[in-house]
Amino acid sequence: MATMRTLAPSGRRLTATSRVGFDTLPDQYVNREQQRGFRFNIACIGETAIGKSALLDSLFDTDFEQKPHNHDEEPHVEHSCKVVSEGGVDLQLTITCSVGYGDQIDRTDTYKPLLDYVDAQFEEYLQEELKMNRQLHSYTDTRVHACLFLVSPTGTCLKSMDLVALKKLCDKVNVIVVIAKADTITKSELERFKQTLREEFAANGLQLFQPEVDTNQYPLAVVGSQEKVVIGGESVRVRQYPWGIVEVENDDHSDFLRLRNLLLRTHLEVLRLSTHTTFYERYRQRRLVDLGFAPSGRHTSTSGADGDAEDVPESLTEVYEQKRRQYKELMARKEQQLKEQFMQKVNEKEGEIRKIEKELRGKRDELVNIHRSEEAKIKAALQALARDRAAWQAECEARRKEEMSKDSKKKDK
Ligand code: GDP
Repeated sequence: MATMRTLAPSGRRLTATSRVGFDTLPDQYVNREQQRGFRFNIACIGETAIGKSALLDSLFDTDFEQKPHNHDEEPHVEHSCKVVSEGGVDLQLTITCSVGYGDQIDRTDTYKPLLDYVDAQFEEYLQEELKMNRQLHSYTDTRVHACLFLVSPTGTCLKSMDLVALKKLCDKVNVIVVIAKADTITKSELERFKQTLREEFAANGLQLFQPEVDTNQYPLAVVGSQEKVVIGGESVRVRQYPWGIVEVENDDHSDFLRLRNLLLRTHLEVLRLSTHTTFYERYRQRRLVDLGFAPSGRHTSTSGADGDAEDVPESLTEVYEQKRRQYKELMARKEQQLKEQFMQKVNEKEGEIRKIEKELRGKRDELVNIHRSEEAKIKAALQALARDRAAWQAECEARRKEEMSKDSKKKDK
């Protein structure tokens, strides 16, 4: 029997004596990816008027034309799509903004529309993956790669509403917490606030997206603006105040540039990759367990009502067979139940009919008796009438004879 020779993981390293051409592989890879185009899906959540639109416009130096929102809107999500080009590379951006977050008296589920949206995109991708003829290469991937979570620059601590939302979102998406309107808080207050937030994140075990380097800078504090002025011949985004100008892209004024570099320059691919390998994978595993797959390897479960150990299938065919078997059993049980219910109804109806029949028979007998007694009375009356009539006729006859004898006597005289 032929045996295959296995090499060490790295194999033997050979250098081609002349050019073979596979050194173009990275270029081929880049060309393929460039043809496919790049997608980046960002979500943004924060209270109304915290500065979401201004920040997003500043980040991508564009106008997403988000319509203004009031505080009385039901929480929901809104999307804007744009293709941003740079150096011949097109980036298809989808921005999903939570609207009405925190505007309700009962804020229990105020983050839910965004969480549901994140889940819905995972579900769509999973459904595509499970298709027999899946088209993942041309699939429009709308899974959220990063979620910008804007917190108010209160200077004190995290709002409980934000903490609840963060706990939920961290499990589903790369969350980047950002302190909004950093120009409204002093430098020392900001440093203390950042420290407090870091402590709160750690105390609550929040797994936020954050590069390892210089963790003291996080969470980043940013300034956004939709206003531009020309300074030194260059058009820059600023916020103008009577006492001076805050430049959005000035490192001394805010962490805006750090955020933009993190999102678009240094960690865009990391965010996209971790969305697939960490968050989607987590979602997929949960859903497959829901669908009846074993979480890892074949094992037995004691989920049956009688405590019997049952094999948990691993392959799709086994899952299908098991589901089919369970479905057939369920249908058989339902059919039996329906038959029993039907027989019970038939018996009930038969009982009712028998009762009605008995009542009708009783009524008929009663009527017959009444009829008979009436008949007897009428017969007796008829007999009495016949007797009266005979007596009257006899009397008439006697009178007639008497008259006749009187008449013959008169003639004889
Ligand atoms: P959204 O409702 O969260 O989208 O908030 P907007 O971006 O529409 O901003 C609401 C208001 O806050 C506007 O008047 C903005 O000019 C202002 N604003 C936005 N960003 C900042 C900021 O960084 N600093 C300050 N001071 N104001 C800001």
